[in-house]
Amino acid sequence: DPRPVTTTTTTTCGYCGVGCTLDVHVRDGEIAAITPVRSAPVNRGHACIKGRFAHTFVRADDRLTAPLIRRGGQLLEATWDDAITVVADRLVAIRDRHGPDAIAMISSARATNEENYLAQKFLRTAIGTNSIDNCSRLCHAPSAAGLTASLGLAGGTNPLDDLDRTDCILLAGANPTEAHPVVGARIKQRVLAGARLVVIDPRRTELAALADVHLQARPGSNVAVFNGIAHVLIAEDHLDHDFLNQRTTGFAELARLVEDYRPDLASEIADVRAADLIDAARLFGRAQRPVIVYGLGITEHAHGTDGVRTLTNLALLRGAVGTPGCCGILPLRGQNNVQGASDMGALPDFLPGYQPVTDAAVRDRFAALWGHAVPERPGLRIPQMFDAAIAGEVRAIHVIGEDIVQSDPNAAHVRAALRACDLVVCHDLFSSRTAEHADVVLPAASFLEKDGTFVNFDRRFQRVRPAVTPPGGAASDFDILHRIANAMGVDLGCRTPADALAECASLTPVFAGLSHQRLDAEGPLHWPCRTLDQPGEAVLHLDRFATPDGRAALAARPYLPPGEQPDGEFPYLLVTGRRLVHYNTGSMTRRTPNAELLPAEALELHPVDAAHLHVVDGAEVTVASRWGRVTLTAHLNPDVAPGQVFAAFHFPDVAVNDLTSPHTDTATGCPEYKVTAVRIRTE
Ligand code: SF4
Repeated sequence: DPRPVTTTTTTTCGYCGVGCTLDVHVRDGEIAAITPVRSAPVNRGHACIKGRFAHTFVRADDRLTAPLIRRGGQLLEATWDDAITVVADRLVAIRDRHGPDAIAMISSARATNEENYLAQKFLRTAIGTNSIDNCSRLCHAPSAAGLTASLGLAGGTNPLDDLDRTDCILLAGANPTEAHPVVGARIKQRVLAGARLVVIDPRRTELAALADVHLQARPGSNVAVFNGIAHVLIAEDHLDHDFLNQRTTGFAELARLVEDYRPDLASEIADVRAADLIDAARLFGRAQRPVIVYGLGITEHAHGTDGVRTLTNLALLRGAVGTPGCCGILPLRGQNNVQGASDMGALPDFLPGYQPVTDAAVRDRFAALWGHAVPERPGLRIPQMFDAAIAGEVRAIHVIGEDIVQSDPNAAHVRAALRACDLVVCHDLFSSRTAEHADVVLPAASFLEKDGTFVNFDRRFQRVRPAVTPPGGAASDFDILHRIANAMGVDLGCRTPADALAECASLTPVFAGLSHQRLDAEGPLHWPCRTLDQPGEAVLHLDRFATPDGRAALAARPYLPPGEQPDGEFPYLLVTGRRLVHYNTGSMTRRTPNAELLPAEALELHPVDAAHLHVVDGAEVTVASRWGRVTLTAHLNPDVAPGQVFAAFHFPDVAVNDLTSPHTDTATGCPEYKVTAVRIRTE
């Protein structure tokens, strides 16, 4: 179209946690094109196929434009006034009859920081419970817990740009080429420029094929692998002794524990060659500026927090965090704002900035400004919400921007929980498998239609700006929460997103220097950002670790087996993950031209296993676990290890999470998506 665009709006990508800065070009009220911003510090003029091209969902024919209320078993269009009245009246009735803890809210990375801030304020004040959680429970809760326990703060330690200085990348449990493409490209460029690369991943990914060492470790064996590497680092003295003596605790206990993790033991548990494990340890141990980059292959395990802690040990043994010139440890957050949702206190045990609800002084500070007492008892985590609903203790679940039936594990259990509730409310762009169980569905605005901020994976606050108006009556989660609160007779304050961030900053020392005004004037800012004249701390822990004693805590954690192992009945291991052109439940990307590149999901299966099962490429197979079954098309792929299969969860008609188990990380409740024992049949 040769006509000029009428407006260009600079905003932040709403897909993955890289947080690329994008220019959205609009003509006659419709998005004409999206281009990456050349001067952006995060993406430097790059963007992937999702951020650039997956935007036509905004005007999809089946976009929700009016509220829906279930009447006579059917979801029927209603006015906003009616929908808000139903939600408010029923929340009040449930709260008054069963108590505030009978109501739970699931917030999400789809919401801005300001929406997450308002959501937790709404639940803690208008309802009176801490039972709010967000989708980080399903992905990086072990990062928050593990990094906080080891280093004192729940964020990656260094900015993305430090990848440009490293001489050795240890990439563990992540496939950024597909899930975080701009980071994947940065890693590839650095390796092509001479950095060494160690990949720990059960699949041979594009970066694994490029690696000096690929440890194709068995799913669920991470702790054994990391303890084995720690064993070699200590045995061969690849240690930063000054750093360990002056800035850490727990070395003697760790050394005692990993004494047992000889490479041959770790090799046996992980099914990798001991010589490869030693090579990996030596590459990491001899590097001047090693960096660790990791993803959900580390966290989504029954011992995911132990995985994070034992991986962090490796950085600490080398003095690779908290020292000038270090490159640190970077958790690749899965979703656009999963860091921010947690930062804003959409968590059952933390107020914004990871301030504990159990701390009376913290509660008093929030209560003084909010004019409402903050409940003391930590609330329910997402998996506990479902258990409590089935037990009759939770009577209402309010979901913001998540399709929990498609995205959460053991979907049959989630459906049972929703059926057990007296009230299910969801905010979404489209009808979903969760909406099928909802009493009220509220049409929400997308990231291209709202105002606020996101926090990306390296702790950068970035502005989100509306490029187009939402269709019909769709509204931002910010406005929806205000309307519900008003109907309940509660004034949440914070009239605008800018007000909400200002209020959050006034209550949260690590965000005290942040405001929309500053972000508009100066561009992205890292947290901690404690004062208005501070630029934000791109590198953490340079003076002291944020632990109570100021030292990093090495963790002596033994390997424990995953929740499930293959056996005679279920002889294969299913690993789930993401694919390049789609995003999470696919609700947005499946409604864009990206769907033409990948219109359906397939089960990746090693050719040796396929031959054993008499399965040919393209055949229909039934995959069953102890928890459910689905039918998929087989795709023969030698990049998955024999004995393992891989599938993504982007398609509702292939409900991969019907298969995944209820096993969760013992410390955080994060589901074990990465290890499910399955069998495969051709009938
Ligand atoms: Fe960047 Fe991720 Fe968006 Fe792709 S999906 S453009 S890598 S933020």
